[in-house]
Amino acid sequence: MKILVLNSGSSSIKFKLYKDDKAIAVGLVERIGEASSKVELKNIDTDEKFSKEQSIKNHEEGLSLVNELFKQSGLLEDLNTLDGCGHRAVQGGAKIMKHCLVTQEVIDEMDKATVIAPLHNPANLAGIRTMIKKAPNVPNVAVFDTAFHATVPDYAYMYALPYEYYEKENIRRYGYHGTSHSYVSRKAAEFLGIGYDNFNVITAHLGNGASISAIKNGKCIDTSMGLTPLEGLMMGTRCGDLDPAIVPYIQKVRGLSPNEVDTLMNKKSGFLGICGYNDLRDVDSQRKKGDDKARLAVQMYAYRLAKYIGSYFAILPKTDALVFTAGVGENASFIRKETCDFIKHLGFDIDDNLNNERSSKIREIGSKNAKLKILVVPTDEEFEIANTTKNLIYKK
Ligand code: ADP
Repeated sequence: MKILVLNSGSSSIKFKLYKDDKAIAVGLVERIGEASSKVELKNIDTDEKFSKEQSIKNHEEGLSLVNELFKQSGLLEDLNTLDGCGHRAVQGGAKIMKHCLVTQEVIDEMDKATVIAPLHNPANLAGIRTMIKKAPNVPNVAVFDTAFHATVPDYAYMYALPYEYYEKENIRRYGYHGTSHSYVSRKAAEFLGIGYDNFNVITAHLGNGASISAIKNGKCIDTSMGLTPLEGLMMGTRCGDLDPAIVPYIQKVRGLSPNEVDTLMNKKSGFLGICGYNDLRDVDSQRKKGDDKARLAVQMYAYRLAKYIGSYFAILPKTDALVFTAGVGENASFIRKETCDFIKHLGFDIDDNLNNERSSKIREIGSKNAKLKILVVPTDEEFEIANTTKNLIYKK
């Protein structure tokens, strides 16, 4: 069984090909719409690389070149021979908060939800529409970022705005990164030998974007991202939570338009806004050189994360584990340490030696005194998408 996983962005397509449960090829189409675009494909077993550089006008041309490179690599005869294609899908709106086989209704709902996810949905849809055109007999599955959060109760997903804004505009917490929260929580339960239906865990997905979820008996009960992926934790370039009155205030005092404030909060804030660097590796090297703004940025990040962990610890009847994942969560031991130090008295006690060991494997980093398990679990969103795609196609 061959499943292709596509993560289509506005100017890129990340892809991975699975044969049964094993990833056999990985690649990237980049700079779509620019003069010097590029497609690259790597055979995972042999490390052999295939690439092509030429202008790629749109997603359709991009996937045609992916098809050519697949042929050249001998890994896939044609996109039409796939058993299925799984698409990372960010927003299906209030109506579609579950993974599903792509139908016209799914496409229409994603189209409508573009107002909530203007950067992601048009790109996700371009990938879906291109696959339908190029490989009409291959089933497509939309794997929604929001689906894992569909179990969050209404008192947790509602904002305290007039109720009609929920009814008419669908303004509510949706949550994002669901594929990752789902994958790492299941892996952690497996690793600890706890049945998933009895597992209570806090999962912190800390990448360029960052979100945290509280999972009770294997079901998500709260998550930090909201209507959009801006709410919650401090991130590389996003501000996360702030006093909502700051928005009209900035508009007034700086004379900014709503779009300009949106850009400010999404692209110029977070680590970048505080210290001038968005990649935590750069922030850390500045911090080590004595840059006080870099020190401040790291402490703000850890403190805000600790507050979320503390609040999710409070709403879970018993927390079995805390999981760190994604680029920052898997690699930045100092973030894990500084975060847990803020809440050590609650039992989040890290073992420094275990925490500082570098590894790409799932591992425990809590000390013997820790009242719960503290784990690092490498995420694998593509695998989760491939697996979900396979399951939905088989169910059909
Ligand atoms: P995305 O959210 O785009 O999928 P990732 O999960 O790959 O991103 O996370 C990327 C981020 O992880 C980088 O911007 C960087 O801040 C952080 N990161 C990756 N490796 C390290 C490291 N060794 N030390 C500190 N931070 C790291």
